[in-house]
Amino acid sequence: MKVTLLGTGTSQGVPVIACKCDVCQSRDPKDKRLRASILVQVNDVSVVVDTGPDFRMQMLKNEVNHLDAIVYTHEHKDHVAGMDDVRAFNQKHSKAMPIWANEAVEKALRRDFFYAFGQNTHGGLPQVDIHKLGDHELINGFEIQGINWTVLPVMHAAMEVYGFRIGDFAYITDVNFIPDETYAKLKGVKVLVISALRKTHHPSHFSLDQVLDVIERVGAESTYLTHLSHLIGKHKDFQAQLPQGVYVGWDGCVIQND
Ligand SMILES: [Zn+2]
Ligand SMILES: [Zn+2]
Ligand SMILES: [Zn+2]
Repeated sequence: MKVTLLGTGTSQGVPVIACKCDVCQSRDPKDKRLRASILVQVNDVSVVVDTGPDFRMQMLKNEVNHLDAIVYTHEHKDHVAGMDDVRAFNQKHSKAMPIWANEAVEKALRRDFFYAFGQNTHGGLPQVDIHKLGDHELINGFEIQGINWTVLPVMHAAMEVYGFRIGDFAYITDVNFIPDETYAKLKGVKVLVISALRKTHHPSHFSLDQVLDVIERVGAESTYLTHLSHLIGKHKDFQAQLPQGVYVGWDGCVIQND
């Protein structure tokens, strides 16, 4: 199993447009963060979690030439805005893209990309085949080409967001509360990728100190932080402040978890 961090930035990305701070002006490639997304590859099956505004660039930069499915965490724009670009895969694979989404995400996709769901669909429009993440999947998980995905419901202020577990790996982004039932589903996870945003308190995201408590409770061997703001500081400085086994994620970081 191979996981690639396609984007490790918060909703505005890093650098932020017109920002002159040290982080946004940094020449370190690890200080350039596209919007949060990962690529999960097990055997020959490739799945992307979320299609934010940088989806196209992420597919090009990482030379993703084949994509089997997309799974969505939640409907915020920084996680769905790039769906239009599934067209390239529709054309390449000559079929609709299977996507897994809960009701709220499906509603947002149908609204934001109304032209893809109308009467007059044609080859030039994005084509998706929606698989619902409902109560059954929340309890039992779901399968993509023989690979089991466990749903990890968490809260993002008042919004329910889904993290996912595949084998010993778990991905949770956009979270400020994890219920006990989800902690139970995280038992035995070896590699965790979780959002951290920044050091100061935020109404819908864990701050750094909060996420470090979560990391300790989950007890994974290694944890990578994602969905990071420019306020977190430069990659190198931030890494030096973290405990053992906790790493600052970066765009293009490959995690092998066999
Ligand atoms: Zn987000
Ligand atoms: Zn900045
Ligand atoms: Zn969000």
